Amino acid sequence: MNDDQTVGLTSQQVSALHKSHGWNELPQTAGPSALRILLRQFTNVLVVILVIAAAIAFVAGERIDTIAIGVVIFLNGALGFVQEWRAENALHALRNMLSPQATVLRNGRQLQIPARDLVPGDIILVATGDRVPADAALIEQTALSADESALTGESVPVSKDSDDATILMGTNIVEGRGMARVTDIGTQTQFGEIALLTGSVIPRQTHMQQQLGQLARQLGAAALMIGAGVMLLGLLYGRPATEMFMTAISLAVAMVPEGLPAVVTITIALGAAALVRQHALTRRLQAIEALGAASVICTDKTGTLTENKMTATRIWTPQEQYQITGTGYDPAGYIAAGQAKRRASNDPLLAQLLAVCAGCNNATLQHDRTGWTMIGSPTEGALITLAYKGWAPLPDPENILDERPFNSDRKRMSVLRQTADGPQVFTKGAPEKLRDLCSEILGPDGPVPLTDAGRAEIDAAYTALAENGHRVIALATAPAPDGILREEGLVFLGLVGIIDPPRPEIPDAVAQAHSAGARIIMITGDSPVTAKAIAQSVGLQPDWVITHDALAAMSDADLADGLAQDMLIARAQPADKMRIVSLLQKQGQIVAMTGDGVNDAPALEQADIGIAMGIRGTDVAKDAADLVLLDDNFATIIAAMREGRRQFDNLRKFVRYLLSSNAGEVVAILCNILIGGPLIFLATQILWMNLITDGLTAVALGLEKPEPGQMKDPPRKINAPVLGWSGFAMIAVFGVYTGLCSLWIFWQLLPVDETLARTAAFTAMVAFEKFSVFAFRSLRSPCWKIGLLSNPFLLLALVVTLGAQVAAVYWPPLQSLLHTTALGWAEWQMIGLFCLPLILLPELIKTIRITGDSNGT
Ligand code: ATP
Repeated sequence: MNDDQTVGLTSQQVSALHKSHGWNELPQTAGPSALRILLRQFTNVLVVILVIAAAIAFVAGERIDTIAIGVVIFLNGALGFVQEWRAENALHALRNMLSPQATVLRNGRQLQIPARDLVPGDIILVATGDRVPADAALIEQTALSADESALTGESVPVSKDSDDATILMGTNIVEGRGMARVTDIGTQTQFGEIALLTGSVIPRQTHMQQQLGQLARQLGAAALMIGAGVMLLGLLYGRPATEMFMTAISLAVAMVPEGLPAVVTITIALGAAALVRQHALTRRLQAIEALGAASVICTDKTGTLTENKMTATRIWTPQEQYQITGTGYDPAGYIAAGQAKRRASNDPLLAQLLAVCAGCNNATLQHDRTGWTMIGSPTEGALITLAYKGWAPLPDPENILDERPFNSDRKRMSVLRQTADGPQVFTKGAPEKLRDLCSEILGPDGPVPLTDAGRAEIDAAYTALAENGHRVIALATAPAPDGILREEGLVFLGLVGIIDPPRPEIPDAVAQAHSAGARIIMITGDSPVTAKAIAQSVGLQPDWVITHDALAAMSDADLADGLAQDMLIARAQPADKMRIVSLLQKQGQIVAMTGDGVNDAPALEQADIGIAMGIRGTDVAKDAADLVLLDDNFATIIAAMREGRRQFDNLRKFVRYLLSSNAGEVVAILCNILIGGPLIFLATQILWMNLITDGLTAVALGLEKPEPGQMKDPPRKINAPVLGWSGFAMIAVFGVYTGLCSLWIFWQLLPVDETLARTAAFTAMVAFEKFSVFAFRSLRSPCWKIGLLSNPFLLLALVVTLGAQVAAVYWPPLQSLLHTTALGWAEWQMIGLFCLPLILLPELIKTIRITGDSNGT
């Protein structure tokens, strides 16, 4: 191998190449520009209606109304713009975090860098599951094949097993590994000519958004009909046409929750941004909401429930048992049999075993000022560290003749190497698979035939290690005089027990998932005994442990029955995940599924919530997933689930809140028309209430913290209506109360002065809407239970909006815009009095309810 192939480019060369070739990037699928977001605010039907209203007011000579409507259109647009801009920024940050990475050799070191930094001439390393970051010419490869369907549409993987083949940007490595020299970057690549960079956040509408969209459309249609009906009725009674038109418009505006879409968008986007801080990256926005409703979580074991920091602590051979000291990938430690330290040089049987540990291994250890780091798979990292601890000679990378890489289906790996005694096969893998490939076992005087008794002895040792939670790898070897790699007739050398401790936060997360009514199914490639031991140590109590072989033999019907219990699938193959997801979904379950490998992608796509691992996961799995866990941690799934529930709860709260405010206005306007009074609210006043003051309060409501009991409820049905009967009842009660109270105030003051009466009714409605928000902060707990000050945004929103209302009543410019007049102490007292039950009654009812509940349990 040339020097530049082991060293790669130097930093100076890289910066010179950046200057001449630029960066490895494609024109981004940029989010909408600020101007587009701004324009979007003025293109909806509401604005069109308002513009028509303003035009009619202008023609009718109502200058001030025209200005007022103009101001409302402007303020509403500005508010919408600020919210959407924030949401867009949050999404943009997510997109950036999803940018692809590349493994590169530079200055003699292997590094992970953003794919954008690659330059022509860089030496890149690719392995199974990687997305190729640039066009490159292969220098060397092992069993490499790539899925080029993104470029060619051809779904059969293309073998790259000639050393002069090229790999292309945007394609996926599905097997093997290789080293290649970058030839083209960015728009120069074949991919650059036809596609845009992946890693976008896909803005599909969430279920809730679809439901709300439907609700808004229905309300809109109803509003138009009622508005038209009222106008007709008014005209029949001989009321002036302009006045009736304005009333009809006000009514329509009052009925449609205009603030809703903006509030929903911002809540979801801010929720996604909040999740990044908890290490979960949302790729599809609907995932968080769906996760809140998840009823089954299928999870991997290694790295998700465990730390994925592997340390070999035991070796078993038929002759000897060894203990190993030290932790992690620091080779400071030793191998001991009883009290005696052992090394490759003083223990020939151990030497053979360690030769396989080092020789059938792609991991490397590197040492720098910060200590030891491992590059490669943690299992192999543990074995190479073991070889270091036993002072085993490290094999020459040049003497590899052939390799059959590890994959999750085969569960083993073999390498054919040139040794002093001729070509030799080194194999390692799952013990029960490997022992069946062995015909001999290494004895003190060399290989002897492997008998049934010998197999039983291996099995017993394997079970004993696994019962202690060890991940067990078997090692075997065989000469291959003909230079052909065969995984048969091997000599069994021994077992290595590796510990991978459970993450400390898992038992708590498991308990939370259980109390939230979500079942957990562990699906792991590890052995049933190890998997069960780990499961129990994190609080899972699987009633049924089944392996891939048994699963494959079962009919769908039998398996579906079994899936109803707490279970664990061991020695699983990726295709099992797909079968499990489909069966669970047929039972109506909402399934979250984790995965990291290339073959997990279909199951991740099929699951309601596909979750890929950020650290361990391949690019292919991440691309297929809805959610990426930046820390690979199961506890993060539960945090995201909590966020999903919080979001859904809060969306429900503010839908009820906004609709109950609108209902109050509609009740007041309709009843007033029926009893024949003059307009109770002017069009501009209604717009002010709905667009300026309600929107702010609703956004603040969306920022409510998760409620204590939220993770104790069973998962909601995904099709559960946003409102339901209780929602409608709540809206009706609040609507009727606030509508009738403001009507009463209006009629009470009408004999005194019409403008005063209207100002008081208008201010009363705003105050009612503001103070009723406390009832919606929690749909189950009284405010004193969730903390009076726990949502400072809401208090701020109240101060700002009530302040704005005071200005609307006393500040002359707003007075003339909104046709108001100053209120006296008596009017304020009246309003305050009607506010009291709105604040106190819901609290009282909720207090009685929770006291009743806690007495009942
Ligand atoms: P999970 O599916 O929970 O992530 P896992 O990491 O144990 O579990 P796999 O990576 O598919 O699943 O490994 C399955 C089995 O294959 C392991 O239990 C081990 O016996 C064997 N194995 C794992 N890594 C290697 C490797 N690099 N070489 C040979 N055998 C391996």
